[in-house]
Amino acid sequence: MTATYQNYINGEWVASHTGQVFASTNPAQTAEVLGYFQKSDGADARSAIEAAASAFDTWSKTPAPVRGEFLFSLIQLLEKQKEDLAVTITREVGKTLREARGEVNKTITSMKQLAGEATRLTGQTVPSFDERVIGYTVREPIGVFAIIAPWNFPLGIGLWKIVPAIIAGNTVVFKPASNTSLISVKLVELLIEAGVPAGVVNLVTGPGSVIGDELANNPLIKGISFTGSSEVGLALGQAVGARGGKIQAEMGGKNPAIILADADIDLAIDCIVTSGFFDNGQRCTGTSRVLVVPEVAEQVKAKLIERAKSMKIGNGFDPESSNGPVVDEHQLNLYLHYVQKGIEDGGVLECGGKRLVDGDLANGYFVAPTVFTGVTQEMTIAKEEIFGPVIAVTDVESFEHAMEIANQVEFGLSSTIFTNDLQKAFHFVKGIQSGVTHVNMPSTHFESQFPFGGKKISGLGPREQGESALDFYVETKTVYIRA
Ligand code: NAP
Repeated sequence: MTATYQNYINGEWVASHTGQVFASTNPAQTAEVLGYFQKSDGADARSAIEAAASAFDTWSKTPAPVRGEFLFSLIQLLEKQKEDLAVTITREVGKTLREARGEVNKTITSMKQLAGEATRLTGQTVPSFDERVIGYTVREPIGVFAIIAPWNFPLGIGLWKIVPAIIAGNTVVFKPASNTSLISVKLVELLIEAGVPAGVVNLVTGPGSVIGDELANNPLIKGISFTGSSEVGLALGQAVGARGGKIQAEMGGKNPAIILADADIDLAIDCIVTSGFFDNGQRCTGTSRVLVVPEVAEQVKAKLIERAKSMKIGNGFDPESSNGPVVDEHQLNLYLHYVQKGIEDGGVLECGGKRLVDGDLANGYFVAPTVFTGVTQEMTIAKEEIFGPVIAVTDVESFEHAMEIANQVEFGLSSTIFTNDLQKAFHFVKGIQSGVTHVNMPSTHFESQFPFGGKKISGLGPREQGESALDFYVETKTVYIRA
């Protein structure tokens, strides 16, 4: 029998007062229901917010090093349940087991990075002009934060937002993406088992727009850390900002890869396939545009098309599969919509561009890796985020032309260049309008000890990860003491 899971509010698993549930299904076998979850509304969100607000007083006064102790148990639990978590991710999101294991491992690394961070919640001592004055700063918790996460890294993104928020002394209401409700319930179970007290982390599942409205407008919510589409992130930013709340939004990307004539072409193709096609391109930092100079254009196109055609699409549990299904029908339709748009706008569809329905694939949302060539900057597929396995190749005249086109989008999340010319590499790094950039590496390369975030409509507020991971969740108090 398929289990029904509840919200977690004030240390208890509780049903939504709506009495309604929704299903989370396996995108590789859409008839397989993984669980039923509470279809909560604004009133459920309010209960969670009030529970978090009540817990704040005690939790914020708990010494920071004590607050941080649960993290050591959490890391052990993650290690112990690694495989089970990876299997759940593959079943619920569709990504291959190899990718899912990668997500769990990256999450553990990120948690190790944060371990002990509560003991380093330091301020500064600052010299005063007055010899009798001692001046220093302290970083204080703020209150209740809403954590709104997407489905593409459901374990990683959830935890690397919640953990810094609570070790800094805040309490949270966690609203996961609906189609990854099962892994999100497991994430909360891990936090409970690790010793996080009642009310500090509260979980509310259900439709983003309904719950999001309450989270954005309730004055007890002091800030929102959001990862998802630019459309939703920017609207949340406006709503929260208008009432003086804080926003940290990690949003979409339209990430370019520039290939110059002196590049190692095989390396470039490997990196572009990894970052543009693996995980079905459902990564915010995925390469979706290739800008190539004339000297190597034909070679690049031929190799990229050959690699796209050779990818094996199948169930994520099959070790032979390079890609599983896309996450849901919405993503499938987005992919098909943009393929159609690419054709209508005059792009050359070189391979892919269709749903795969042979044999067992007909039971899920499987799609073919797709390459368009002849793409110009006016075309929709050169400008809008697709979040699917579609790479648009644009011929550019020169490095300077590539830079101009690379920056001609509203997004500014990640980017990469392939060249052995150091001068051009530095010129690129300086001029590219993206929050994260790479040279001779996939645009998706990411390590949790570095800050992460985007420019333009890809990011709002302080960076996540790295040394600055706690910055969003604290306020600095300046203290002057005259002796
Ligand atoms: P989305 O529709 O914006 O959803 C993201 C989260 O917001 C989900 O939990 C969703 O809940 C919730 N939500 C939806 N509408 C809302 C509203 N009106 N108010 C408040 N919350 C709302 O994004 P998605 O399509 O699921 O995810 C893909 C997007 O995420 C892409 O644009 C991708 O680039 C971006 N992303 C960015 C990063 C990054 O770090 N920059 C990382 C991963 C993904 P429901 O699931 O219930 O709708």
